[in-house]
Amino acid sequence: TVPAEKSDVSAATKTPTTLSSDSIINFARGDPMLYEPYWKNKGDRCKMVTLGDELMSYFSNALNLCWFLMPELDCAIRRLHRVVGNAEADDRFIIVGNGSTQTFHALLYALSSGHPEPVSVVAAAPFYSSYPEETEFLQSRLYKWAGDANCFDKDGAYIEVVTSPNNPDGSIRHTVVNREGGKSIHDLAYYWPQYTPITHKADHDVMLFTFSKATGHAGSRIGWAIIKDKAIAAKIVKFVELSSIGVSKESQLRAATILGVISEDCQNPRLEEENFFEYGRRIMSSRWKKLREVVMKSNGTFVLPEYPRDYCRFTGEYTDSNPAFAWLRCKEGLNCEKLLKDECRIITRGGTCFGVEETYSRVSMLCSDAEFDFMLERLSTIKN
Ligand code: PMP
Repeated sequence: TVPAEKSDVSAATKTPTTLSSDSIINFARGDPMLYEPYWKNKGDRCKMVTLGDELMSYFSNALNLCWFLMPELDCAIRRLHRVVGNAEADDRFIIVGNGSTQTFHALLYALSSGHPEPVSVVAAAPFYSSYPEETEFLQSRLYKWAGDANCFDKDGAYIEVVTSPNNPDGSIRHTVVNREGGKSIHDLAYYWPQYTPITHKADHDVMLFTFSKATGHAGSRIGWAIIKDKAIAAKIVKFVELSSIGVSKESQLRAATILGVISEDCQNPRLEEENFFEYGRRIMSSRWKKLREVVMKSNGTFVLPEYPRDYCRFTGEYTDSNPAFAWLRCKEGLNCEKLLKDECRIITRGGTCFGVEETYSRVSMLCSDAEFDFMLERLSTIKN
């Protein structure tokens, strides 16, 4: 079986430090290393020093519903959403988790507890490959994976996971089941200006974000949920409390510092260097341009999705979508993942992991510059 997003981290072939013509390179995982040069340039502004007697208590704010959330991170998250305009965070509960992965597990618990029968969990295919694995992992009595939301016809309670922009195909998504009593989780990991135009301020009952894809700091393992309902928020807090008694304070403070630097730069009209989102958008857009040129020269062997331009409220101009993953399709009857492995020696994640045909494969666009150039070189060797 092909490993999912997280197991992929351990199973992955490590990217060689020097890339040679016979190296096999892994583009199956979405490790966001492309932002590393930007953060290298920030120097001391992101530096954190902690002394031996600091951050010792389990508690961050005993008066807050989410008692392990550092007030600094709480403020930094709300400020960044205000600055970017991508989500309504004011007058909402913010719950921090160990990555949005833990928060997703917490939400499955929070939205399904109290039902007599296991609640069906669905997502429209192609869906993020970790959702089925995470949902089925503990064989819970509370919920069960029920597959593609487009084909969901069972009676009873359900949770629809909506990822927008979507992983793997970058499309803008809305709920598709729309049945009375259904609940939804909006995973907005990629709803940031470097990936997509910010067309509106998202204001769903349950929204998930992650530090990993917003800024590239996947190793800090910080994710957050923005929740309208207090009872749901309290259940998420309970889950994090029972599974990890909170979230590392060092990580929270680092996230607060970095999110703070981004907000400050975005709000500073005299800033001479690019702010983080301008930088990310420029790199992503240049990568997509180069990839499309290579794909065009493949004479129809590969096809990429097209995305509409839209007005971005953050940049104040019409911008393109530059998704974090390229969703490659090859000719009918071919196995795209195998073709890329055999012919280009690049590892990608095939369509079946995402609930669709093997003619598709997902390629990460978040790798380092050197890896990206290598990928283009390899792809350009395929002609029909
Ligand atoms: N949701 C989506 C849509 C993702 O693509 C990812 C990471 N690949 C996650 C959640 C998990 O993020 P985290 O690193 O915060 O656990």
